[in-house]
Formats: sequence, structure tokens, C-alpha cells
Amino acid sequence: MNIIECKDLTKEYLSGENIVKAVDNVTVGFEQGEFCAVTGPSGSGKSTLLHVLSSLENPTSGTVTYNGEVMSNYNDNQLSILRRRRFGFVFQAYNLVQELTGYENIVLPVMLDRKKVDEKYIKRVIDMLGIEDRLEHLPSALSGGQQQRIAIARALANKPSILFADEPTGNLDGKSGREVLSLLKYVGKEFGITLILVTHDLHVAEQAERIITIEDGRIVRDSKNL
Ligand code: ADP
Repeated sequence: MNIIECKDLTKEYLSGENIVKAVDNVTVGFEQGEFCAVTGPSGSGKSTLLHVLSSLENPTSGTVTYNGEVMSNYNDNQLSILRRRRFGFVFQAYNLVQELTGYENIVLPVMLDRKKVDEKYIKRVIDMLGIEDRLEHLPSALSGGQQQRIAIARALANKPSILFADEPTGNLDGKSGREVLSLLKYVGKEFGITLILVTHDLHVAEQAERIITIEDGRIVRDSKNL
């Protein structure tokens, strides 16, 4: 069974007088634990597909089903709880809270959920990402790669089943980018998380087990990359 799938998914935007079909009738599914890259040229609809799949935006038509439940049946409050508890997000911008330390940023989603921090689990995540000695620092004292690793730890804090990553290495130099990518891969496999990663960079996409190519809002290729 797919952990998440969409059927006939379309997302339109009004651009002046014109309607832009950013996502055009896409049907696709993702299995638990798989690592899939979504690639294609700039403006092809990759980010929009990620946003609609992850319920950050509503579709114009079509359905998204998570764990057997159609997400359009959920109200906004239920969707935000689902996103907070089951989905992790990593973006090109690290979006850390500048006034909080690395550790405080990491556990923020757990705090927002009024849950108790699973210290053992968080420690494991921190060890895996190699950020033990960065926890007391404010984001401004960290490099881009370190900030992105804190952001990945934060995305993992609530033990998500899916990690959505949008150009996660886009602001990093080659070496830090490769490190962050291999860490994403590693944590995905260790925790059995589905990793759906949007990138325009073919070298990044080639690290995935499956590559979906999008052009003009449509899937033009979907292939295993083993
Ligand atoms: P990609 O991630 O592949 O670069 P996007 O999903 O960002 O592509 O954009 C796909 C298309 O939808 C583009 O033509 C873009 O201009 C348009 N688009 C995206 N977001 C919006 C928006 N909020 N309002 C209007 N048009 C948008």
C-alpha cells in the first residue's frame, strides 16, 4: 500500500488573465520508506506538487490520500495536526528561529504539540546528524550545512512517516550539499521514512532510488534508479 498517493491532481493559479496549470492531472503514489526525487526544469511544477501532496496548499481538483484517508475530508485543524505529527519538511531556506539555540529549534515541533520530548530518540537523531557540539549555538553562529542539519533534526523531531524536502541543498556549497544529502538518505533509511525530494539538480536526483521527471506540470518519466 502507498503511504501517500494522489489521483488526477491538478493545481491552477491565476496569473494576470491566464490560468497556469502548475500541476496537471498527476496520479502517483509513494511507498513507505522509499526515497524518490522529483526533478525537472525550473517552473515545471515540482514545488507545487510537493506543496499540494503535503497539504500545504489545497488542490484545484483531484485527491491526495495519506495512509488510506482522503485528505480533503480533513478540516484545516486536522490537516495542521497531521502535518505536524506525520510530515517533516526541509526547505532550501533553513527557517530556523534566530533567537533559539540549535537544541531549542530541534525540539520546537514537539513543544508546539505539547508533547514530552523523547530524549533518547532526539539524542539518536542528533548523533546521526553529527551536531552534538552545535546544540547551544544560535543559528547565526552556524554554517549553512550545520543550520540545515539542525533543520533536518527538527523535521525528524516528531517521528514523521514522510519527509518532504524542497531543494534542501540549494543554498549549500558542493561538499556541504553532498553531506546533507547523504544524511537525509541515511536518516530516511534508518527510520523507514519516505523521502520525497524536489530538485532541479540531476546529480542530486541521481542519489534517489526512484526519479520522477516533471515537465509542464505533468509526469513525463517515472523510473527506478537502483
Ligand atoms: P518548480 O518548483 O518546478 O520551479 P513551481 O511549482 O514553483 O515550479 O511553479 C510551477 C508554475 O506555477 C510556474 O509557472 C509558476 O510561475 C507557477 N506558480 C507557482 N506558484 C504560484 C503562485 N503562488 N501564484 C501564481 N503562479 C504560481
